[in-house]
Amino acid sequence: SLSIGIVGLPNVGKSTLFNALTKNDALAANYPFATIEPNVGVVGVPDQRLTVLAELFDSQKIIPATMEFLDIAGIVKGASEGQGLGNKFLANIRETNAICQVIRAFEDPDVTHVDGDVAPSRDIETINTELILADLQTIEKALPRLDKEARTKKDKEKLAVVDAVNAAQKLLDGGVTLFAGAEAAGIDLTLLRELHLLTAKPFLYVFNLDESELTDEALRARLRDLVAPAEAIFLDAKIEAELIELPDDEALELLQGMGQDESGLSQLVRVGFDTLGLQTYLTAGPKESRAWTIRKGATAPEAAGVIHTDFQRGFIKAEIVSFDDLTTAGSMAAARTAGKVRMEGKDYVMQDGDVVEFRFNV
Ligand code: GDP
Repeated sequence: SLSIGIVGLPNVGKSTLFNALTKNDALAANYPFATIEPNVGVVGVPDQRLTVLAELFDSQKIIPATMEFLDIAGIVKGASEGQGLGNKFLANIRETNAICQVIRAFEDPDVTHVDGDVAPSRDIETINTELILADLQTIEKALPRLDKEARTKKDKEKLAVVDAVNAAQKLLDGGVTLFAGAEAAGIDLTLLRELHLLTAKPFLYVFNLDESELTDEALRARLRDLVAPAEAIFLDAKIEAELIELPDDEALELLQGMGQDESGLSQLVRVGFDTLGLQTYLTAGPKESRAWTIRKGATAPEAAGVIHTDFQRGFIKAEIVSFDDLTTAGSMAAARTAGKVRMEGKDYVMQDGDVVEFRFNV
């Protein structure tokens, strides 16, 4: 499955957050395998719709979509030159599909900051600089070979790759990540795929705030601006760690007391899933109500293939009703009577929250 790497300077709350994520009953209860390795956690993607479906269909169990988080320690200034856990850090992050930067905004005299004081924008720059330098090294190594290949073979596609790599180098040299700047610079990231560049991965940001800052809209807006177009999530990691110890109703009460209606962990998983370019469709029956993971833009046969490759191969059609139409109607039979259940063919592009039954030949 696709994974998100959690990175950040030391002492910003990464481990606190990661542990809360992977020990969280609500997110991880169904997954005894939740911790594959000490630094890899599988979490369920929170989805209220599954609870509703399970009631409607009297399902025995609920199976949410899942995703992986990796706790990647070791970024410090100089990581790209092998400082700290430099090389290991870079190798680990290369394997992930998106990068979640945890940025410290909380003040605490008992928790030292590696660079002296709490300064979110400087820390973001420190991390981005290391990722950019690592990408520039990758490019410097690869460019002569790519260039030579393209020229000797007069290969148009390879020449386009070389152009894209040169443009990327220029962007990175100016201190801009590919994620933030490639589109405006007209760089087609698919041409850079073979280089596995770190800053071409989607980014998202978690700002670890003081409890009192959680409702500070001006601060949130300022921090959000720092990282746009990436998504920003605001939470207090220490409180998240406390929330997971509480029964659901008490946790919600505590959250609402702080002006929040959803835990930071739950937001992180939802936004992370979206950042990975993923969405879900749903199936429901007496056995289970379940969310299945597909990439955005997947067609009906591709979606069927996630359940079983035979479903994709033998795909005939999909019987689909949107979650909203189904719940408004109150039952599958009522939705059918109301004309809300559609038969879709092999070109249908799946929509988030489609409730589906596939018809196929075996
Ligand atoms: P990591 O090095 O980034 O993994 O950071 P840790 O999760 O180990 O946290 C470092 C220290 O900061 C620990 O003592 C945590 O209890 C503390 N800490 C983490 N998050 C918060 C927070 O939101 N507020 C405060 N005051 N302390 C925190």
